[in-house]
Amino acid sequence: MKKDYNAIIIGSGIIGCSIAFELSKKGWKTLNIDKLPSAGQGSTASTCAVIRVHYSTLEGTAAAYESYHYWNDWADYLRVEDPSGLAKFIQRGVLVFKSQANDYLKKVISMLDALGIGYENWNFKKIKEKFPILDDTSYYPPRRPHDPEFGKPNKAPLVGAIYYPEGGYISDPVLSVHNVQVAAEAHGAEFQFNRTVVDILKEDNRIYGIALEDDAAIEAPVVINAAGPHSFVINEMAGVIDGMNIKTRALRHEVIHLPAPAGVDYEAIGCPSSDSDVGAYWRPEVGNHILSGSEDPQCDPKEWIRNPDDFNRNLTEQAKAQAYRLSLRIPNLRIPNRIQGVVDLYDVADDWIPIYDKSDLPGFYMAVGTSGNQYKNAPVIGKMMAELILKCESGHDHDTDPIMFHLEHINRDVSLKFYSRLREINEESSFSVLG
Ligand SMILES: Cc1cc2nc3c(=O)[nH]c(=O)nc-3n(C[C@H](O)[C@H](O)[C@H](O)COP(=O)(O)OP(=O)(O)OC[C@H]3O[C@@H](n4cnc5c(N)ncnc54)[C@H](O)[C@@H]3O)c2cc1C
Repeated sequence: MKKDYNAIIIGSGIIGCSIAFELSKKGWKTLNIDKLPSAGQGSTASTCAVIRVHYSTLEGTAAAYESYHYWNDWADYLRVEDPSGLAKFIQRGVLVFKSQANDYLKKVISMLDALGIGYENWNFKKIKEKFPILDDTSYYPPRRPHDPEFGKPNKAPLVGAIYYPEGGYISDPVLSVHNVQVAAEAHGAEFQFNRTVVDILKEDNRIYGIALEDDAAIEAPVVINAAGPHSFVINEMAGVIDGMNIKTRALRHEVIHLPAPAGVDYEAIGCPSSDSDVGAYWRPEVGNHILSGSEDPQCDPKEWIRNPDDFNRNLTEQAKAQAYRLSLRIPNLRIPNRIQGVVDLYDVADDWIPIYDKSDLPGFYMAVGTSGNQYKNAPVIGKMMAELILKCESGHDHDTDPIMFHLEHINRDVSLKFYSRLREINEESSFSVLG
């Protein structure tokens, strides 16, 4: 039976599902295709799911603060019953250490002020009251454990941190994707799994559908690349890479799960924390664990992956380096001989700022380059992409007349030019997972 889809979305991660939800609410008939068996099993399954609002740019901060409001009232955003239950937002606030690496958060603070986001300045006495496991010694810059200077304290200790209450993490990111899928289906969206897209179909310089591994083809006037770390593969199929000033690549990343120090119920008291002094971020995890990733300091080698279907999913020396660095801040951290954790890929844009845009090929759009930090923004990304696609498909030239998008909770307009594939490298970026 031939179906008339308005749009095919490649990928059913948090981004693809959010786009399906928003387009279907606008009356579009959407079809998500994913090669995995169910939604959210790609890189979203490995996300640390930290919901923070601080970014290195005002636009990034505004999008994250807007998204926070959707997570904070997830049921209201979805307006659907999911028999599997709803993912929980664990609001613990976020602690961000001031360090030489982030210029003592001057820029971050100015952006929080500009957007009216509440925060407190904490000195280390206050930090120790809340989190007695943390040590205030400064070790900047972050180093590899074999560096003779590793663990050598600087003369002056850390000066403190900011703490803001409007942040936390999502208990079960895969369930959150399922929630969005169910919400999209309630508006007529369709999903097909275990099907791999192998080509993008074009005729007369316009997209008309996709070809699948099983020789089937599905037609639609709009195709959206939401393929996560496979984004560059799909863009290659579409032949749109030469028309992009900013490109994407897959970067391998290790996240470690360590037991909290003995006698500490970190799961109950901990909050997402970012520490550029030792180049680590961490948050509480179920089972009284601490989950921690690297903030991509210069000393860490970057492992770019040519084939996102073939990379080492085992933890390596990198995991040990991250654990030892974290133990500088949490001296009683227990590091087992066999460290547990996950390995997955970031879809990294050249300036670590995502691309939410059209392409040079009419009908082909992309929500890519999420650079290890856009899970939290999915509700806003879905809305931005739906508006961009609807406007472009009705003849608007977004490249020459960039679309303004209204962030409804924080009552602010942002230009979607910020996310353009044609932009110059954004030098304001942290060029790291911090965005
Ligand atoms: C280790 C790690 C930690 C992270 N921590 C955070 C965090 O704390 N906070 C935060 O905000 N963000 C975080 N991120 C980033 C965030 O998780 C990602 O930005 C987000 O999950 C990307 O979602 P996606 O839907 O674009 O990609 P994915 O979830 O990877 O979905 C893409 C889908 O496309 C499918 N696909 C690809 N190619 C094809 C094809 N040819 N045919 C059919 N299907 C295809 C894949 O199977 C996949 O399911 C983290 C990421 C990682 C890897």
